[in-house]
Amino acid sequence: MCIACEVVRINGMLCHETGCPEAWKDYARECAWCGADYRPTYREQNCCSTECAEAYYGLPEGSVDPADYAA
Ligand SMILES: [Zn+2]
Ligand SMILES: [Zn+2]
Repeated sequence: MCIACEVVRINGMLCHETGCPEAWKDYARECAWCGADYRPTYREQNCCSTECAEAYYGLPEGSVDPADYAA
């Protein structure tokens, strides 16, 4: 459930109210590196996996916390 809005049920799917600041969690994004669709686990996330984030930001392998990219 959402702490920021009244979650409503539409066709059996839970949806955030329009304009809810937490609604980004419900929408897939395109990975900035490989182009795959993924569900972000935090708001500023722009890559689908640690591998993509490391490649995109030019970081050494293993430097990105996998917890940030848990499905
Ligand atoms: Zn919400
Ligand atoms: Zn990717």
